[in-house]
Amino acid sequence: MVDFFQAHTALQFQDGNAIPDIHGDTPGAGSGGRSVIAAPFDARQLGRRVADIRRTMPETAFLGMPIQAGADLAAFLTVTHSLRSAAYVTQRFTRHLYQLARYGRAMHWVNGVALIGRLVRSADALAVETWTASPAKRLAIDDGRVDGVTVATRDGEVTLRARRGVVLAAGGFPHDIGRRRRYFPRTPTGREHLALPPESACGDGTALGESAGGHVSTGLASPAAWCPVSAVPYRDGRVGHFPHIIDRGKPGVIGVLADGRRFVNEAHGYYDYVAALIEAVPEDQPVESWLVCDHRFLRRYGLGIVRPVPVPFGHWIRRGYLKRGHTLEQLASHCGIDPPGLTRTVEAYNASARHGEDPEFGRGSTPYNRKQGDPAHGPNPCVAPIEKGPFYAVKVVPGSFGTFAGLVTDASARVLDANDRPIPGLYAAGTDMASIMGGFYPAGGVNLGPAMTFGYIAARHAAGLDADALTGTPSKTRDMP
Ligand SMILES: Cc1cc2nc3c(=O)[nH]c(=O)nc-3n(C[C@H](O)[C@H](O)[C@H](O)COP(=O)(O)OP(=O)(O)OC[C@H]3O[C@@H](n4cnc5c(N)ncnc54)[C@H](O)[C@@H]3O)c2cc1C
Repeated sequence: MVDFFQAHTALQFQDGNAIPDIHGDTPGAGSGGRSVIAAPFDARQLGRRVADIRRTMPETAFLGMPIQAGADLAAFLTVTHSLRSAAYVTQRFTRHLYQLARYGRAMHWVNGVALIGRLVRSADALAVETWTASPAKRLAIDDGRVDGVTVATRDGEVTLRARRGVVLAAGGFPHDIGRRRRYFPRTPTGREHLALPPESACGDGTALGESAGGHVSTGLASPAAWCPVSAVPYRDGRVGHFPHIIDRGKPGVIGVLADGRRFVNEAHGYYDYVAALIEAVPEDQPVESWLVCDHRFLRRYGLGIVRPVPVPFGHWIRRGYLKRGHTLEQLASHCGIDPPGLTRTVEAYNASARHGEDPEFGRGSTPYNRKQGDPAHGPNPCVAPIEKGPFYAVKVVPGSFGTFAGLVTDASARVLDANDRPIPGLYAAGTDMASIMGGFYPAGGVNLGPAMTFGYIAARHAAGLDADALTGTPSKTRDMP
C-alpha cells in the first residue's frame, strides 16, 4: 500500500518519528519505530477544494496551526530554551499568521490533514468525482448483491449504481450514543465517553452494513481506541475534547483517582491509561482521574490545552478547566480528590522521583516511555518530583480516537454475514471494519495503517485485480499526471 501510493499518487510518506512500540518490554517489540507519516502538504495545491476539508481540531493545533509530531513539536516545546528553536518557531508562526490573513486558515498541513490533503489532491488529479454533504442513506440490494447506494443531496435523494461494489468507510460509531451504551464499558448513559472524531462519525456505515446482513464484532478486547480526554470549556459555550497524548510522559506529572491513589504508569500508551482507569475505579463511582503537576511542569510542558510559557493560562483557571491550589490539600479539595490521599501519594512519589525513580509504576522503563519523556531531563526523562506550589490538575476521563468494534470482514475486506459468508458487492474499510488488532493498541498507526491498507485491498478486489499483485507493483494503475 505504501509503495503504491508513493509510486503513483501525491501521497508521499516520511519517517514516522521513530516511535517505538508501546509495550517495549514484550518480547519482539519494535524499539526503533515502524510507522510512517504523510509528508507535510502545501494546501494551496488544492485551490478552491480547500474549503471542503475539515480544519485540524483546535485542541491539537496552536491558533489554528497544526504541529507535526517530532522535530516540529520539539522546537515549540524548547522555544524558550534554545535560540535555534526560537528562530524556527518565529519563522513558522510568522508564515502561519500570513496564511491566516490571506487564506483564513493554515495552509501548511501536517499529520492527519496532510494525509487527507494529499489523498484529495491525488483523487482530483484522476478526475474522481467527490460529493460532499451527501450522506449515504440506503444500500441497493439486488438478489443478495449490493449494487448501489442511495444518497441524500440538496436536490433530493439520488441512487447511484455500483458495477464493482460499495465500500463502507463512514468512520465507525464513536458518536452513536445507543451503541456506546451497548458496547462500551462503564458508560451508563452513553454520554460519559468523550469521543475525538467528528460528530458525523455516528454509525451510519455500521447500520448500512447491518441492513445488508453484516454484523458487528463483539469479541474484541476493547470496543474503542481509548484515549484519555479532558473536556475543554470554550468562551462561546462549546465543549472541546482534548486528547492527552504527549503530556502524560513528561517528567513531573502523575494521574490519580478520587481517593488520591495512582493507578498506572502514566507514560504508557493512551489506551493503557484508560484501560487501567476503567479497571481501577470502583463500579459505583464515575470513571474519572486527574493529572496533577506543579507550576514548574505547567509552564515548561503545558497540561492538556494549557500551553507552556510564554502562552497565558489564567483564563483556563477562570473557566474551571485547570484547577489550582497553593497546597496539595487545597488542590485536592478543589478537584473533589481525597486531600490526605493525594498528599500521601505525592510524598511517596517524590521520595523516589528525586532520584529519577518510580518503583511503584516504572515511569521511564520502556523505549516508548522514554520517547514520550523529555530527553533533556535526567537521569530519567519521565520522572521529576512534584514539589513547589502552586499545584495544578486537569480532570481526565475515557475517550477514544474512534471505534475498534466494527463490521466483521474477511482478508479481502468483504463484509461477512452471520454465517461468515461474504456479502457480494459489499466491502468495509477504516473504522467501519472491525480492527485487525483484536481490540488492542500495540503501536502508533494501528488505525490509519490498516484503514489505508484495507481500503487499498478492497479496491483491488472489487476491480478484480490479482491478489498476488497486492505485494508487487500494481499493473493496472494509471500514473498520476
Ligand atoms: C486527534 C486524533 C489523532 C489521531 N492520531 C492517529 C494516529 O496517529 N495514528 C492512527 O493510526 N490513527 C490516529 N487517529 C485515528 C484515525 O484518525 C481514525 O481511525 C481514522 O481517521 C478513521 O478513518 P475512517 O476512514 O474510518 O473514518 P473517518 O476519517 O472518520 O472518515 C469517515 C467519514 O465518513 C463521513 N460519513 C459519516 N456518515 C456518512 C454517511 N452516511 N455518508 C457519507 N459519509 C459519511 C464522515 O463525515 C467522515 O468524513 C487519530 C484520531 C484523532 C481524532
